[in-house]
Amino acid sequence: MYFNIHTHSFSNNDEIIELVNQYPNDIDVSLPYFTVGIHPWYINEDTFLDELALIEKYLQLPNCKALGECGLDKRIETSLEVQKKVAIAQLLLAEKYKKPVILHCVAAYQEVIEIKNKLQLTVPLIIHGFSKNEQVANSLIKNEFYLSFGKYLLRNPELGNVLKKVPLNNIFLETDTINETIVDVYEKAQSILQVDVSKIIEQNFNRVFNL
Ligand SMILES: [Zn+2]
Repeated sequence: MYFNIHTHSFSNNDEIIELVNQYPNDIDVSLPYFTVGIHPWYINEDTFLDELALIEKYLQLPNCKALGECGLDKRIETSLEVQKKVAIAQLLLAEKYKKPVILHCVAAYQEVIEIKNKLQLTVPLIIHGFSKNEQVANSLIKNEFYLSFGKYLLRNPELGNVLKKVPLNNIFLETDTINETIVDVYEKAQSILQVDVSKIIEQNFNRVFNL
């Protein structure tokens, strides 16, 4: 069994358990497993409270396995102030319903760590599409974040050296929007880590998502 923590398309394959990312206004609740959240790219201050109410409703469904993706992105025009407001509102919902969170984070790692500590969040927080260096990885691990690898693991050979330093219990794998399959990502991680990646990811998945 393969576990794909973050994808935007449902592959309908019995050998893959995947968390399909969906948006509150465009959602198919019949999928086996999904996540729902307001992505920082699509924040609309006029509609965000309505979307939040929908997210709260969907979070209570058993097949909604996490909140997300949500987060902070310093490379977009929406102010960090507004992004924080929207992210914090969602994180508090995740905490209320005890669901893990899939985080989108671009150049705002320190801010995300601060928010986690300030809100004293206890639900698992997973940084998806991790692509940064060992130092950033270490500070996230120290603060008990999980790191999910996919696209950049396939594209950037240097990232393999970072992956090797991440505790095995903190690793997830994903495809996000790439054309390669989760099997390709597993094979890449396997070749880098030289451990039973399949078993590691399954254990992490079961622990974090209670599947
Ligand atoms: Zn995504």
